[in-house]
Amino acid sequence: MAVIYLDHAATTPVLPEVLEAMEPYYKEKYGNPSSSYGTGTKRKEEIEEVRKVIADSINASPHEIYFTSGGTESDNWVLKGIRNRYINKNIGYVTSSIEHHAILHCCDSLKQENVLTTQLQVDEQGIVCTDQIENNLTDDTVLVSLMYANNETGAIQPVKKACYLCKEHNILFHTDAVQAYGHIPLDVKEDGVDFLSASAHKFGGPKGVGFLYIREGTDLPAMIDGGGQEYGKRAGTENVAGIVGMGVAAGLAVKRMEEDYKKIKRLRDYLERKLLHEIPLSRINGPFGMSRSRSFEPGRDDIDISTEKRLPGHLNISFQFIHGPELAALLDQEGICVSTGSACSSGSGNISHVLEAMQVPWELAGGTIRITIGRENTPEEMDRTAAVVRKSVEYLRKKSISYEDFYLAYSDRL
Ligand code: PLP
Repeated sequence: MAVIYLDHAATTPVLPEVLEAMEPYYKEKYGNPSSSYGTGTKRKEEIEEVRKVIADSINASPHEIYFTSGGTESDNWVLKGIRNRYINKNIGYVTSSIEHHAILHCCDSLKQENVLTTQLQVDEQGIVCTDQIENNLTDDTVLVSLMYANNETGAIQPVKKACYLCKEHNILFHTDAVQAYGHIPLDVKEDGVDFLSASAHKFGGPKGVGFLYIREGTDLPAMIDGGGQEYGKRAGTENVAGIVGMGVAAGLAVKRMEEDYKKIKRLRDYLERKLLHEIPLSRINGPFGMSRSRSFEPGRDDIDISTEKRLPGHLNISFQFIHGPELAALLDQEGICVSTGSACSSGSGNISHVLEAMQVPWELAGGTIRITIGRENTPEEMDRTAAVVRKSVEYLRKKSISYEDFYLAYSDRL
């Protein structure tokens, strides 16, 4: 049975070009970039080439890019680094209720270190209300951290507007762009962000490598002390193969962005329409997803990326009278990989904090799966997925006593 992989927000397959570029670094190109002989200095040069590719991809300068082990580290570096800058002072952070746990749990642990965090609420489509930002700022606020796009719903956040408000109050701004980078255009100058986190395995690169953008002139203390790597800010021998792989993935992501965006969105919209149409009592959670009757043409090409409010591959869908984890397990038996929330919290049995923040009614939130589509998926896979989801939802509803009662009362309206 061929596997249908529909969990690209959790991680993406490593692109063949990336794997090919990385392989020599485990064989002949194993030199340490800090070594002074040829095979070391050459590795250093190659790392610097990647720094330039990454910088260009977000309109930054190479010396503003710091390689890390991924999104979690980059997020922690900003939040804990700023805390270290204001040691022995009470400070405040503002973030949102829908951030990834790399932010939320970090803020929790910083509570013990005199950092008071307030969370911005979101509207029913999962978009942060920027008019709340100013109400949440206090004299102690030093940082606002707002994700670029949400990992569960794909909702793109009003980062530029939020940055503008922060600048007016002289407050630093960080964005966790782990889901957005490589999928939609990002421009740190245009948006005005001070820090941006990204992770290679979300855009066709390897796991365990990512980067942090730190705007020039912004003081962020080092988190890892040791050798002088990464301008003395992030010590440790560089993950050369990983960094090279990330560079190739980033270059390809930028080059193919528009084409991939359209292809992926077309597949997502096709599957979304099929599921909503064929399965009663279902609904999409996220921007433009509140209605069952929204219509569109699967083949249309007039997509303006800059006005879209959801990442192209995200489809967060709820089915009433079923349990999301049971549905995901049935799909898994058929070789279809989806998640029931963010990969890290899946299986915890709790309702997703993101859906809770969006005030999705619990009877729907509990029956949610997250499908995230990637560049290698096909229309045939969408057809098979729709058929299997439909069959599985019907099966699970047949076992549900509350659905039976509901059906008896309302079957004529379904
Ligand atoms: N931030 C967001 C929005 C994510 O989706 C993820 C991973 O799912 C992370 C941070 C963590 O990134 P990493 O897996 O590179 O540590």
